[in-house]
Amino acid sequence: MHDHHPQQPTPDRPIRRVIIAGGGTAGWMVAAGLSKTLGKLLDIRLVESDEIGTVGVGEATIPTLMNFHHLLEIDEQEFMAATGATFKLGISFENWRERGEDYIHSFGSTGTDHWTAGFQHFWHKGRERGLAGDYGDYCLELRAAQEHRFAHLPRAGMNYAYHLDASAYARYLRRFSERFGVRRIEGKIVDVALAASGDIRAIRLDSGTELEGDLFIDCTGFRGLLIGQALGVGYEDWSHWLLCDSAAALQTASTGPAVPYTRSIARDAGWQWRIPLQHRVGNGMVFSSRYQGDAAAIETLLGNVEGAPLTAPRVIKFQPGQRSKVWHRNCVAIGLASGFLEPIESTSIHLIQRGIVRLMQCFPSHGIVQPDIDEYNAQAAGEIAHIRDFIILHYKVTNRRDTPFWRDCAAMAVPASLQHRIELFRETGRVFRIPNELFAENSWIQVMLGQGILPARRHQTADLMDDAELRRFLEGISGPIERTVAQLPPHEAYVRQYCAAP
Ligand code: FAD
Repeated sequence: MHDHHPQQPTPDRPIRRVIIAGGGTAGWMVAAGLSKTLGKLLDIRLVESDEIGTVGVGEATIPTLMNFHHLLEIDEQEFMAATGATFKLGISFENWRERGEDYIHSFGSTGTDHWTAGFQHFWHKGRERGLAGDYGDYCLELRAAQEHRFAHLPRAGMNYAYHLDASAYARYLRRFSERFGVRRIEGKIVDVALAASGDIRAIRLDSGTELEGDLFIDCTGFRGLLIGQALGVGYEDWSHWLLCDSAAALQTASTGPAVPYTRSIARDAGWQWRIPLQHRVGNGMVFSSRYQGDAAAIETLLGNVEGAPLTAPRVIKFQPGQRSKVWHRNCVAIGLASGFLEPIESTSIHLIQRGIVRLMQCFPSHGIVQPDIDEYNAQAAGEIAHIRDFIILHYKVTNRRDTPFWRDCAAMAVPASLQHRIELFRETGRVFRIPNELFAENSWIQVMLGQGILPARRHQTADLMDDAELRRFLEGISGPIERTVAQLPPHEAYVRQYCAAP
């Protein structure tokens, strides 16, 4: 397992044999993406171990998953029925700003922007003049979420994502991938054999079988068997910004209609999730082991679930951070093997899909060259740093000081890039999206307002309207939204007729 020549990969070796190590959500998404697009050119094998199993969580998604499904030409109704999926319009953050206060970070856009000034400046003036409702009243998706309503609207009128059963999703993608020629191999990887060059030559299974490959995709989850253990690529630890490093997960029976949003309920040393599926509810506590022990977290979780438990609580430990390089030599890490922030904004499955798309764009059919590796790594690093900042924001900007965890979150130093954004918004109400950044202005604004920042100033464009004009402008946005929402069916009924699980 020694890296003899760490500088360069072996050039000009055509890539035909792809080995995917691991069959969780990441492994099977990679298998599906690669086989659907390049399947005819490649020999793709996936190794997974039933005995080891998968992490078994990861059930809330964001709208970008739709792009992946379009690419795969997945039928939405079939996929939703197979995974017991429901629609998701956003996340309800409860007790985050203060105990007893909540807000929704929804998909879609809020209000109408002027080219000089975002809608938040007009809303800000409207609030001051007593003319505006809540910021969320100007967002269709948010209002539909609050009313528990959903329907597909023409011209992509509602921006949505899914809650899905992770194990069922992996099974669904397995069937899909096998149709496109992927071969699944059951077995435990016990060793990784390196070539003299330092590249991975083969993986060895407990059965004694050796699987040789040209390109290895490490989807072995937190273990990072190939990228970390065999190739020795390090891990950047972000636990000084992201204090949560543990989770307890539990499935319960549904007790009422599924709501079209994820619930995130802040607790003393972290937060609790509730993800409603058609057939059950996914629950969990994400917490910091520095402030709370496993037993206390489980007790809090069990005391705050609604339905009867269907599984025993399971504790999962993680290190928030990112692999220093996600592509090294002939190994690309995708999924938890590449890093994990924490699940607060459901970004992990999105990052898997971005890793796959990027891999296809940089696919080294004619041999692996260092510029491809460098480009891939630079893009991946930039993408995750933006998401990291957005996640830290939720903890940093809070009025809560009631427990040591929240006091330390509020006091912690954050990355300079995030500090600047917070100060810019606090002083001026302005937000600018960084090119290629996942979260757009509307997400930043919803979370910053929701977490308790009301900007000190606003853009003067908003003052060009007198009160009557401003009232007409605001009502011209919220009125049609209210009329649309009133006509939408209840989410539960819509799911039942559209994509009920068999
Ligand atoms: P795993 O699911 O761990 O799969 C690893 C695979 O490797 C398994 O098939 C295993 O059998 C195999 N393997 C490992 N070692 C060996 C070996 N020696 N031999 C053979 N096979 C091996 N993401 C979201 O997008 N939304 C969410 O809401 C969300 N919530 C989360 C909540 C928590 C608490 C955590 C921890 C994560 C959450 N995630 C979420 C992340 C999400 O779960 C993962 O991104 C996703 O499940 C992909 O995991 P994976 O496939 O990389 O790893």
